[in-house]
Amino acid sequence: MKIIMLGAPGAGKGTQAKMIAAKYEIPHISTGDIFRANIKNGTELGKKAKSYMDQGLLVPDELTCDLVVDRISQDDCAKGYILDGFPRTIPQAEALDRALEARGEKMDYAIDVDVADEVIVNRMGGRRCCVNCGMTYHVEFNAPKTEDVCDSCGEKLILRDDDKPETVQKRLNVYHEQTQPLIDFYSGKGILKSVDGTMDMNDVFAAIVKITEG
Ligand code: ADP
Ligand code: AMP
Repeated sequence: MKIIMLGAPGAGKGTQAKMIAAKYEIPHISTGDIFRANIKNGTELGKKAKSYMDQGLLVPDELTCDLVVDRISQDDCAKGYILDGFPRTIPQAEALDRALEARGEKMDYAIDVDVADEVIVNRMGGRRCCVNCGMTYHVEFNAPKTEDVCDSCGEKLILRDDDKPETVQKRLNVYHEQTQPLIDFYSGKGILKSVDGTMDMNDVFAAIVKITEG
């Protein structure tokens, strides 16, 4: 099973991707998580990516595409994988297509998690993230057992710099300009599915499973 999660920042892609990855026992590949891990480890890629991420801009395609193409070539991706936050531009989608074509493979579904901008702005302010293990919480909708502590690994949770209100609006603009066109792109390929991302997260998951189970 090869799935792309589409949707605005904060739509719930990561939340759902983790649940799907656990259900189908396939890797969850989040480009945002990969960049944040690189920032934490002080790598060259991390330094370059941070300057764009902090401004709410996309990291350039040339720093992003090869990274994903390499990742999906690894052995643990043989049974499939779920891409979260990639592709985010038409050139990224085309690069992914070329890589898949070269291996005689294709994506099964591009699932758009649909949430209006107003709801997103509220969600992002409440998101809390673990930079250690990648778990994501929400102060109201999915609170950790102990405030600001990751249930999974015990690390202190943070409010991402790019989840501050001024950057969220910028990211939404970038989404509408550069990423939303992917909805038509995947619709044209006949693999687009849409779910209402404003439902409770378990109901969103049930809607996705209905799609993947046919
Ligand atoms: P994305 O990966 O699309 O940026 P996340 O999965 O990190 O989004 O979700 C953004 C925030 O909204 C997180 O704090 C998450 O806990 C919360 N969230 C996710 N899905 C829902 C939902 N269906 N209802 C309410 N809050 C949600
Ligand atoms: P995310 O964790 O998916 O919300 O991504 C956080 C930030 O990482 C984005 O706002 C971008 O700056 C950067 N990023 C993540 N994935 C991509 C991508 N596919 N292309 C470009 N930039 C990305």
